[in-house]
Amino acid sequence: MPKHRVLIVEDEQDIAGLIKHTVERGGEADAEIVASGDAALRAVSDRPPDLIILDLNLPTVSGIEVCRILRSRAETRHVPIIMVTARTTEDDRVQGLDLGADDYLTKPFSPRELAARVRAVLRRATPASERQAAAYRGVNLVADFDAVAVSVQGQPVRLTRREFELLRYLVHNKNRVVSRDRLLERVWGYDRLVETRSIDVHVGRLRSKLRDAGRQIETVIGLGYRFIDA
Ligand code: CA
Repeated sequence: MPKHRVLIVEDEQDIAGLIKHTVERGGEADAEIVASGDAALRAVSDRPPDLIILDLNLPTVSGIEVCRILRSRAETRHVPIIMVTARTTEDDRVQGLDLGADDYLTKPFSPRELAARVRAVLRRATPASERQAAAYRGVNLVADFDAVAVSVQGQPVRLTRREFELLRYLVHNKNRVVSRDRLLERVWGYDRLVETRSIDVHVGRLRSKLRDAGRQIETVIGLGYRFIDA
């Protein structure tokens, strides 16, 4: 599983270090630290992270301004932001949430609280590594995920919404094994109570609808499924 990439924007070194330590502790995320608003904007436009932990009180460009700019750009609009505010700046906090920050922490915060917020936001978000190409073009299979149109050898294929989402998720993780648990979480939604057998049924139906291209969905025994390029 690729690690989540977290960008920490904080000019106070010891606090930045504490946040980094907390975020990386579970082994599921790598964190990078930048110390100013303009460095944050550069880092994000180079490569949008999966989460930004943004101090509001920053040199050069303020955290509020960083938040506003990120939300105004299509390529960074969906990157989750947790704001970090001082206790005294309620106005900033309200403004930040109005601008679309996902959550906030008040200084001083406990590492446990931070870790819990980070987990919650990352769970709701789609990792940057899985953020979608709009289409797939293989030898037999063509899928336009924006237009919700799938065809095999030029013939349109009618998929249910679930089958379509399943295909989309497998394609976007092509050549990687995706576990049934992961599919449950990503395609069925975290809270749905679905038996893993039901996933196998859906994959079976999707395969047969895709005819020749169905072979591109491999069963990896004991692990899950893998979409292979063809
Ligand atoms: Ca600061």
